[in-house]
Amino acid sequence: MKQKIYLDYNASCPIRPTAKSAMIDALSSAESALNASSIHFFGQEGKKIVENARNHVAKLINAQPSQIIFNSGATESNNTIIQYFSRAYPNKKILVSSIEHPSVLLATPNLHKIPVDSEGLIDFQAFESALQDNVQTILVSVMLANNESGVVQDIEKISSIARKYNAYFHSDITQAVGKIAVDMSSLLFDFVSFSSHKIGGPQGSGALVVGSCHQTPVLLFGGGQEKNARAGTENIASIAGFGAAAKEAHYYLNHYQILSTWRDSLENKLKDITPKLIFHSQSAHRIPNTSFFSLPGTNSHTLLIALDIEGIAISNGSACSSGRVTPSHVLKSMGKDDEIASSALRVSMGWATKVSDIDAFVEIWAKITNRLKIAG
Ligand code: PMP
Repeated sequence: MKQKIYLDYNASCPIRPTAKSAMIDALSSAESALNASSIHFFGQEGKKIVENARNHVAKLINAQPSQIIFNSGATESNNTIIQYFSRAYPNKKILVSSIEHPSVLLATPNLHKIPVDSEGLIDFQAFESALQDNVQTILVSVMLANNESGVVQDIEKISSIARKYNAYFHSDITQAVGKIAVDMSSLLFDFVSFSSHKIGGPQGSGALVVGSCHQTPVLLFGGGQEKNARAGTENIASIAGFGAAAKEAHYYLNHYQILSTWRDSLENKLKDITPKLIFHSQSAHRIPNTSFFSLPGTNSHTLLIALDIEGIAISNGSACSSGRVTPSHVLKSMGKDDEIASSALRVSMGWATKVSDIDAFVEIWAKITNRLKIAG
C-alpha cells in the first residue's frame, strides 16, 4: 500500500495516544453515567475528570482553572464573544482583523475590519484611526496566529492600543496554542478562544477563557453548567481528552520549535525544485510548523488532488470548512491577486511529523511538478 503522509495539522491534529486513552478511560471507567452536575458518587467522578482537565488546560496557557469555560471549540467561543458584544452594545463598534477565521468574520453582520499589510500583519495606522472614530469601539478581536499563513501578530502592541481606547480585547489563539507560549496571566487578553483538536485532543471540544475583566459572555443558556457560562451537559470524555492533550502539549512546547528548522529546510528545497514558488509571510514571525506558498500559473485544487493521489495530505489555506475551494480571503486581504490566491497551498506539521515525511513530500513535489511541467 502506498504511504500516506499527513501534513495538514492546522486543519486538525491526529489525536495524541494519551488523549485517546483518557477518553476511553472516561467512557469505560464508570458503571454508570458520569454527569458532572449530579450530587451522587457518579456525578462526583465526572466532576473530578472535568476539574483535572481544567487544571491542565489552564496550565498550558498560564491561566487560572476558574478562567476556563469548556465548550465545543473555537467556533463556539468566537461566536459567543462576537455575538455577545454585538447584542449587549448595539451602538458600539466591533473591530476585527480582515484575516480572522470565518467563525469571527461571519459571527455577526456589520463588523469593522482592520486591514493587514502584504505580510499579513495588522496595519497599525488604520487600526488607530478606526479606534479614533466617533463611534466607540467596544471590542477588538485579532487572532494571535493565522491558520493559513501562520503569521503571529504583535499582540502586546494590539492589546495595549485596544486598552488605550477602553475596548475589550479578544484573541483567537487556536493556531498558536501548543506551538508558541501563550500567557493568559500577562493581562494582554480579556478573552481567548481555542479548540482541543489543534493540540491533539478530540474534535468538538474547546474553551473560551475569560481574563480579569468583569464580563462573562454567554451564548447558550439552560442548565447552569460551567458556572452558568455555557449550558449543556458536559461532554466528559471529550473534556478528558482535551485535558490530556493539553498536558502533553505543555510538556512538549519547547520541542515544537524544531519544526521551524524543518519548515525552513523544506522551503529551501521546494524553492530549488520550483523557483517560481512564492512563500507568504516568510519574513514575518510565524508559528514554527506552517509553510504557506503559491505557485503562479497553477491551481491549488489540481495540485492538491495530484498530491493526494501520491499519498500526501496538505491543503489550500482556506480548506478549513467543507472541501470548498475558494481563493484565500487571507491572501486577498494581503493584497495578492487572484492568480496567487487561487494557487495557494499550506503545509502544516505537528506532534507526529517525522523528517522522513518532509523528505517524502519534497520527493513527490519534484515528481508532480515535473510531470505537470511547472518547474518554472
Ligand atoms: N479559529 C481558527 C484560527 C481556526 O484555525 C479554526 C479551525 N480551523 C477555528 C477557529 C475553528 O475551530 P473549530 O472548527 O474547532 O471550532
